[in-house]
Amino acid sequence: MTQTISINDSGRLQLTPLEIPSRLLLGPGPSNAHPTVLQAINTSPVGHLDPAFLALMDEIQSLLRYVWQTENSLTIAVSGTGTAAMEATIANAVEPGDVVLIGVAGYFGNRLVDMAGRYGADVRTITKPWGQVFNLDELQTALKTYRPAILALVHAETSTGARQPLEGVTDLCREFGTLLLVDTVTSLGGVPLFLDAWGVDLAYSCSQKGLGCPPGASPFTMSARAVEKLQQRQTKVANWYLDMLLLGKYWGAERTYHHTAPINLYYALREALRLLAEEGLANSWQRHQKNVEYLWEGLENLGLSMHVEQEYRLPTLTTVCIPAGVDGKAIARQLLNEYNIEIGGGLGELAGKVWRVGLMGFNSRKDSVDQLLAALRQVLPK
Ligand SMILES: *Cc1c(COP(=O)(O)O)cnc(C)c1O
Repeated sequence: MTQTISINDSGRLQLTPLEIPSRLLLGPGPSNAHPTVLQAINTSPVGHLDPAFLALMDEIQSLLRYVWQTENSLTIAVSGTGTAAMEATIANAVEPGDVVLIGVAGYFGNRLVDMAGRYGADVRTITKPWGQVFNLDELQTALKTYRPAILALVHAETSTGARQPLEGVTDLCREFGTLLLVDTVTSLGGVPLFLDAWGVDLAYSCSQKGLGCPPGASPFTMSARAVEKLQQRQTKVANWYLDMLLLGKYWGAERTYHHTAPINLYYALREALRLLAEEGLANSWQRHQKNVEYLWEGLENLGLSMHVEQEYRLPTLTTVCIPAGVDGKAIARQLLNEYNIEIGGGLGELAGKVWRVGLMGFNSRKDSVDQLLAALRQVLPK
């Protein structure tokens, strides 16, 4: 450890100026922000009701509708990280006593269970071993059994690297008047996603994974059906900060003050979304897929194998099996300390069993894969 705080001769506290190592972030998030996005965050703030800022908010809304492929009018950025947007979906959609069915096949499914319970939901779960996904028959059986007000699924389970297919799920939900809530934190921008075509009613994401932006401003959207449920609530939304009936007035025509938006983060998000729109959504999805396939091939050439069946593997997050006899934590530490590369370890059922390698947003590039493979070649036991 270097000592950064000292007391000088005149008794004043002395701090060295901020010094942060430059890392290649190939873990489960955050990913490195695009240089243009970092430049945007450095722009001087204007007021949160300044016409220039209100225009920027409109742009964020349009761009979010594009990247999510939705026409939902209530599509905004929540001030906070992905978890705040996650909590916003639950807080607004769940009324005490509502049956909420949650697909749990990883860490973030469990977080949804905890959150829904705190808002008074009657929570039911359907589970799978970590790394697997639910099929339509399994979902249909659970929907028939529980007839939930809401079905919540994680599209991209960052703890396992599995992609939950969503096609056809909404048809099953309609039969029971069930709203479909989806976590798209690790899929938005990097994995094909069509909210309206797939009939998703509530979704959330974050800025620091597939969008290549620093954390702190998180996409949120709800369909007309979900807004209707919100408007018919018997009880107030139990979270003032995330209440969409209040927030909708700041983002909508009224422009009523609610809280001070994190102005500079919204600058950054706007630029990250602009870059994504300029690249084109389909091109970004293809880039993520191409680079992850290059990663898988390189890892296999090193004698490593992946945890998830190829068909359901995420392009944004790969779980790599730690070979028997290898100290996974020591390898990750060495990559960070000697090569400035961050990768993640396993959580829950996969603790100690996998490394998690993210190729998200700006970091989904051939040269980041090459850097990681070259470092692994050095640090893995022969
Ligand atoms: C990262 C993540 C979250 C939480 O987002 P934060 O920005 O860390 O609050 C939620 N769900 C999934 C699937 C994630 O990967």
